[in-house]
Amino acid sequence: MQREIDLTNPRLGSELLKDPKGNFPLDVWETYCSKPFAHLGPLYPLSVLSWRIDPSDPKTAALDPQKAADEAFTWALQTLMLLKSNQPAEAMESAQRALNVLVRGASFSQPKRGQPASMRPTAVRAWIIRKFNPTLSLAEVADLLFRENGKCPRCRLTRHQYNSRCVNALSTAVQNLCSAMKDDGIPV
Ligand SMILES: [Zn+2]
Repeated sequence: MQREIDLTNPRLGSELLKDPKGNFPLDVWETYCSKPFAHLGPLYPLSVLSWRIDPSDPKTAALDPQKAADEAFTWALQTLMLLKSNQPAEAMESAQRALNVLVRGASFSQPKRGQPASMRPTAVRAWIIRKFNPTLSLAEVADLLFRENGKCPRCRLTRHQYNSRCVNALSTAVQNLCSAMKDDGIPV
């Protein structure tokens, strides 16, 4: 996360609408999820955080577990050597890399059957946007998240209705997201 996000900022709702497809909604959501566990340290692992990962981004996509273990082993070894040579800042960076690789190889990051993984960050955006803009309908949020140049490339509608195919898919994904958040003890 780049910057500190204030969840009590009264303008947060409108700020989320400025770039609904960008990283800001994902960062706000991560802050919301991490907040109840802040006292346990910045690296506290929450499996639901893998929902923000875009499977088409090669930097964050899920890794083959075996490859992830091999790569994490190298970073863990380097962490130990850096600690022994009294380079705590470098060791911290190396440990963070080991953790990032492990998260990408972990079972909770692997693609799930039944729903395309690309829907997960979209569900995160929809949920956090509606959390701070409760008057928006899911169809309106689908317009914000799916439409490109005035038209949805998935269903070809210019405006989604409450019963449109994309809205149903988004609704299912948001319900699954809520269950995953509840499983991690996050208030929804
Ligand atoms: Zn659509």
